Amino acid sequence: MNHPLNSWAARDQASVLHPYTNLAQHAETGPLVIRRGKGVRVQDEEGRWYLEGMAGLWSASLGFDEPRLVEAATKQLQALPFYHIFNGRSHEPAIELAEKLLSLAPAGLSRVLFSNSGSEANDAAIKLAWHYHHLIGKPQKRKIIGRERAYHGVTIAAASATGQVANHNGFGLPLPGFLRTGSASHWHDALPGENEADFVARRARELEELIAAEGADTIAAFIAEPVTGGGGVFVPPDGYFAAIQEVLRRHEILFIVDEVITGFGRTGTLFASERFGLRPDLLSTAKALSASFLPISALLVSEKINQALLAGSATHGPFAHGVTYAAHPVCAAVALETLRLYEERDIIGHIAQVSPLLQDGLRALLDHPLVGNARGVGLIGAVEIVADKAAKRHFDPALGVGARVQAAALKRGVILRGLKGDAIAACPPLIIRPAEIEELLGALRGALDDVQAWLEEQGHH
Ligand code: PMP
Repeated sequence: MNHPLNSWAARDQASVLHPYTNLAQHAETGPLVIRRGKGVRVQDEEGRWYLEGMAGLWSASLGFDEPRLVEAATKQLQALPFYHIFNGRSHEPAIELAEKLLSLAPAGLSRVLFSNSGSEANDAAIKLAWHYHHLIGKPQKRKIIGRERAYHGVTIAAASATGQVANHNGFGLPLPGFLRTGSASHWHDALPGENEADFVARRARELEELIAAEGADTIAAFIAEPVTGGGGVFVPPDGYFAAIQEVLRRHEILFIVDEVITGFGRTGTLFASERFGLRPDLLSTAKALSASFLPISALLVSEKINQALLAGSATHGPFAHGVTYAAHPVCAAVALETLRLYEERDIIGHIAQVSPLLQDGLRALLDHPLVGNARGVGLIGAVEIVADKAAKRHFDPALGVGARVQAAALKRGVILRGLKGDAIAACPPLIIRPAEIEELLGALRGALDDVQAWLEEQGHH
């Protein structure tokens, strides 16, 4: 595409280095420039509206024009646009938000460590796991176990815990001491003929074996998303986390639960930890915490770790971690208002009402010749595109089938996301209404038809 010299597109191509973008391709095709938003929709610079079926980056939970959040930000900007919480300083938004989060959080979590992004929250979780073991006299417990297909962010520790090679290749990652165990995706990773119960038992056994091989006294923490997001959107089989947690407890390995996507209703409960019976030592949240109106993340910390930190003051002095914008007052005020809106509008009740439409609708796509699997929970889900359903064989990655479905859906006015391995994800704003879910599903089916027709033309299907 040739953009006029002074268009937003041309200026973008000459100036912006785009995250998670094929840069050479971008130099050819240019950006999709989004100008404004309303409800669950966003508009591009040419005036076209799109239903944002991914809530941006799994995150804009209240859509794109919530006036209450604008007001909350404005009021706080006028009262106190910035202050920090280092060295015992504090401010009302930080205190109120921490209190509110703890009142909603799973049992056993008693303090909140704020930062700006999901990556930072996970890096902080890993540092706290190291620091905790150091403070209780087990400084050799350092290794971090992550899972294949996991996504935990881009900062150096979070990227190391991530289970996708694309995040490591060319960056010299993972760091030493980051170990990997298998994913919780039965559809992708079960052995031929292996049922879910056997798969779960094998995953627990493999974890046990990894711990035995490395030495339990060298392992600090295990990190997992309750429902894997960017790695393909899949829900663990029944009993998976019960089996994993039993192993972790026995070996005194901390459990870091990454709820950056799943936090605040996405899976149908406020935290996915409730739905899956998780007992996190550290729980990271971001994204929907502020409905993505402003950047903020919160790491919820267990009382056990809090006690160790308190006691550590005697030997170590100040807790030497924190970012300038930790609990930034404007971001914290917006997050607090976001949590109030979830309650006022009974977002959990709303999700219970509308999520079956999305889940049933995705599963109804299994009748499509390209769809080999449909999965999800609450308002997050995916379909997996395959060349051969019985063999679960994907198309040649060079065909870019997932990207083609994503592009075809975009043409039909719906933003979805093609993930590696040709899964198409949907993760709409939590406020989405039934007619909008139908629209999303209709565009997805239409896009699958478009790509099916293209594949037939090419002689591939
Ligand atoms: N964890 C999970 C599960 C995520 O999906 C993401 C972002 N997509 C992150 C962590 C990293 O968050 P951020 O991009 O805000 O650093």
